[in-house]
Amino acid sequence: MSGTESVDVVIVGGGVSGLAAAKKLLDAKCAQEEPLKVVILEARDRLGGRIHTVSWDDVAASEQYTKRETALDLGASFVHGVSKRNPLSQVCHEVDDTPSQLRMRCGTPDTVDQIPLKLDDENEIEDSDMSFYMGAQGRRVAQAESRRLDKLVGVVLTRLHKLAVEGPIDVDESSSPALAFCDEDGNGPLKADLWKGISADDRQEVMKLIRIMDESSGATLDSLSLRYWDFGVEDFSGGDALVSHGYSQLVEWLQRQIEVKGADVRLSAPVDKIELLDQDDLIAAHYKDEQDNSKRINARYLICSLPLGVLQQKQPDVSFDPALPPRRKAALGRLGFGLLNKVVLKYNKIWWPKGAQWFNVLPPPASAQQAADETSPLAKTVSQSCLLLHNYSFVASKQSRSTAMLVVYLGPPLSYEVEKYTDEEVGRALHNVISKAMSSFGAAADPIETFVTRWHSDPRARGSYSHLPPGSSPLDMIEASSSLWEGKLGFCGEHTCHANFASVHGAWMSGVREAERVLDCIGEDEEEDDDESSDDD
Ligand SMILES: Cc1cc2nc3c(=O)[nH]c(=O)nc-3n(C[C@H](O)[C@H](O)[C@H](O)COP(=O)(O)OP(=O)(O)OC[C@H]3O[C@@H](n4cnc5c(N)ncnc54)[C@H](O)[C@@H]3O)c2cc1C
Repeated sequence: MSGTESVDVVIVGGGVSGLAAAKKLLDAKCAQEEPLKVVILEARDRLGGRIHTVSWDDVAASEQYTKRETALDLGASFVHGVSKRNPLSQVCHEVDDTPSQLRMRCGTPDTVDQIPLKLDDENEIEDSDMSFYMGAQGRRVAQAESRRLDKLVGVVLTRLHKLAVEGPIDVDESSSPALAFCDEDGNGPLKADLWKGISADDRQEVMKLIRIMDESSGATLDSLSLRYWDFGVEDFSGGDALVSHGYSQLVEWLQRQIEVKGADVRLSAPVDKIELLDQDDLIAAHYKDEQDNSKRINARYLICSLPLGVLQQKQPDVSFDPALPPRRKAALGRLGFGLLNKVVLKYNKIWWPKGAQWFNVLPPPASAQQAADETSPLAKTVSQSCLLLHNYSFVASKQSRSTAMLVVYLGPPLSYEVEKYTDEEVGRALHNVISKAMSSFGAAADPIETFVTRWHSDPRARGSYSHLPPGSSPLDMIEASSSLWEGKLGFCGEHTCHANFASVHGAWMSGVREAERVLDCIGEDEEEDDDESSDDD
């Protein structure tokens, strides 16, 4: 088509993987006389995708955030594995030499912001003394007891890990950790022996704490693969850290880095078709511009960073022509895309201990739960769930430490359930349970505002992050990462990083990997062109 815009590389999606790919491409080529032309097509009116920091005022007003005092991460918040090998640590290090705000924060509230970042295990922000377990009668479980339970959880998880990784039998690929936990006294099909030496009472409590992990994987224990349990999470050894003033600092820094090198970033530009053109060795992205006009842009290479949840849609928003091959579709179908949602409860004043970082609210025994007919379905699910609460004032920047907010992390089934209700209904149901479970800290007035994330209903995400369900394998992620159409169409995104999926650093690494592959291809193209022109001479 004459007059159609043509560039070197189009990147579909401006999340961290797409931005990291753009940075790598432009860093490599900007020294040349004719730097690469790179266009990013992003469907939302903002960059960052599943990284999204807002201020409280903007949460309420649903607008772009302007001030940082109450920076609140609605998507990713932690840098997992702060060690020298984590590329995000290196980025923060690099950025620390410049007068930028992008710094990782670690330590206790008093030392936060003051200690220089040391890139090793000492940065661990977790401390069991800052994690409160809430037990019966609204009281905190004694510290010695919660430490004992923590230890038991550690014992059971180590056994589970050994069973999956070093076990005497090759765990059937359709097994889940749930099957191993059901394995009473090692007599069940897996002979797992997970509970050896642990009393029936302790077992119940340990199981509740393990269920809290549903939040971190976005999936229940029965929807995870036991064979690949823990796969990909051992890569970096360090603890967790937060990005000062919110994770979007990283996105904004990346945007500045690539725009200064000529990247063309187009927001509100949803792609609906990716097409291999018959002629000229080109690939086309069809999209809508801000005025809803249909547009097409041709490129030598295209990097697709669409989230797994978007690629898995039965009636996809984005079509491929030619269609993705059956082997690719099957691999994408086997992978899991889970759901972590966050609920922010804002109060008039802090009514919980300021020094606590996390609260684990465990459900009472079934006999003590309210009868089903007395409560709404939502209230019933809430009362049966293990809730993980983050004390916002603990992690907030100094200016906003008096902001009275609890951030509740929800895994399935509650994470799906809350998306069916209004923010107020969710806030009420959670507050009822939380205020009772923590009543020993004092009377709690109702929250003055509630905000619920809805990552599953979000058409540009369709969930939070990927996992390996029974029947899948890391090979499916490798398949999802391989290029198609003779290398012209590449893929990145957290779900394509089999060693570090479900994380920001995994997404980053996948973008860099894909950009390096495209740079190699471009190098080969240039060599071929040189050979042809010397033949002509
Ligand atoms: C609630 C939550 C908490 C999390 N917590 C953590 C954490 O603490 N630490 C951590 O490391 N990770 C965390 N994660 C995971 C982390 O956020 C992701 O792994 C990472 O941000 C994914 O980046 P990505 O580039 O692969 O995908 P995305 O960020 O999803 O980027 C894909 C982009 O494609 C765009 N797009 C979609 N459809 C189209 C279309 N048709 N046309 C054009 N563009 C399109 C999207 O808008 C998006 O910007 C969390 C995620 C969630 C949701």
